[in-house]
Amino acid sequence: MTVRTRVAPSPTGDPHVGTAYIALFNLAFARQHGGEFILRIEDTDQTRSTAESEQAILDSLRWLGLEWDEGPDIGGPHGPYRQSERKHIYKDYAMHLVEAGHAFLCFRTPEELNELREARRASGDHTALKQSDLELPAEEADRRRAAGMPFVVRMRVPETGICVINDMLRGPMELDWGQVDAQILLKSDGMPTYHLANIVDDHLMNITHVIRGEEWINSAPKHKLLYEYFGWEMPQLCHMPLLRNPDKSKLSKRKNPTSILYYQRMGYLPEALLNYLGRMGWSMPDEREKFSRDEMFSHFDLQRVSLGGPVFDQEKLSWLNGMWIREDLSTEAFAAEFQKWALNPDYLMQIIPLIKPRVEKFSDVAPLAGFFLSGMMPVTPESFAHKSLTVEDCRRILQFASWYLDKQVKWDKDTLFADLKVLAEGMGFKIRDFLFPFICCDCRHFSKCFLWLIRCIYLGPDMSRARVRFALDQLGGASKKEIKRWEKEFAVLGQQNNEAESQ
Ligand code: GLU
Repeated sequence: MTVRTRVAPSPTGDPHVGTAYIALFNLAFARQHGGEFILRIEDTDQTRSTAESEQAILDSLRWLGLEWDEGPDIGGPHGPYRQSERKHIYKDYAMHLVEAGHAFLCFRTPEELNELREARRASGDHTALKQSDLELPAEEADRRRAAGMPFVVRMRVPETGICVINDMLRGPMELDWGQVDAQILLKSDGMPTYHLANIVDDHLMNITHVIRGEEWINSAPKHKLLYEYFGWEMPQLCHMPLLRNPDKSKLSKRKNPTSILYYQRMGYLPEALLNYLGRMGWSMPDEREKFSRDEMFSHFDLQRVSLGGPVFDQEKLSWLNGMWIREDLSTEAFAAEFQKWALNPDYLMQIIPLIKPRVEKFSDVAPLAGFFLSGMMPVTPESFAHKSLTVEDCRRILQFASWYLDKQVKWDKDTLFADLKVLAEGMGFKIRDFLFPFICCDCRHFSKCFLWLIRCIYLGPDMSRARVRFALDQLGGASKKEIKRWEKEFAVLGQQNNEAESQ
């Protein structure tokens, strides 16, 4: 048997360090066993998936040296490797389960589903909705079908009992069927859900080991059951510990930049970032901290993964990166890498139009371009002195904007400007005053707010967020009491401060 592993990102945002972490362990495991590593794009959520996000994921993984043997860009014997191009495959599998009695057509309307859930909640029963709750009498189902009402396909699941999942790291895990709902497999538009597409593709692509984040543990019973229903052998499952913020919460962009693009823009070497990800829950047999990808692969042993949540700590990463830069780059290599990072034609072409109108001589360039070539900017509380804004105003503005930027997916100048204008008005500030603290986040060379926005676009969401947060910290941050009060105000302004993020 050839070992075949895969990473299966959904292209719904910036390339996440968690994706690279999972890809690294899948690749290491495949290489250790002389096997193959596959990249599959899971873009069944057509409203959130974008081609740009997919491209950024591919570029970032490649930048890190995580090469795949089969994938959407290079093809392979089990293609296509993009689920949107495999749409036609899934429906037959879903219908096969219906015919075999393992799944059913569900005609419940959204209102009915709400009522069912409400009734559950009111009765204090926390179990999931099952076929016994959802299925309609045959006559009514036939009537709705004949009337052309939309339906989904749901799998049947046991009402009660225990499901045992064998995990390569955790051993047998017992999960309660009572908590598992009659999962939708095929949506009313004919698109499969993650669960169906993932199982069908893992099977058709001969995946032997599924190494993924621990947030998928609760899905494992459904997956196991689907393999049984289809009569297929299930790959071995391994749920990796989640990356954590230094305060041990799940790694999130609110507390820690999570985009690989941020670490590129910050000037980390791909070797160092990969080395650091390799240290997340894993260690070399001799415990050395600095090792290359190939050294990791030749010493790899999945059983050395420890389950305590690994902390992704930027200071530690910087320390490791410094070692890589000082020990591994000759003067020539340093010059070449620096040039590639800062002075490459693509980046220069973005920067020059912004600074050229202000340049009288080339010696003006470095101070003007500093914004683009720096990490955090050297701001102090004095940088925020303003004729009408108090320090508290500045902190409040920065905090609200940071919440807004955290959840902002569409990252273009017009959207950002329009949204920030609404936020400013809601908070009772003129947009010019509102944008003042952001201009302070860098330097005063450009006093026009819209230029700040354009620069944000080039710097990318994570770097912009990090700078706003850094500025807020320089002003003393926000106290717990203020956060509580401000969160309420933020919600009243119609902005939901909730985070929808997946690794
Ligand atoms: N598309 C899923 C994700 O975004 C893949 C999960 C899995 O590996 O099964 O993480």
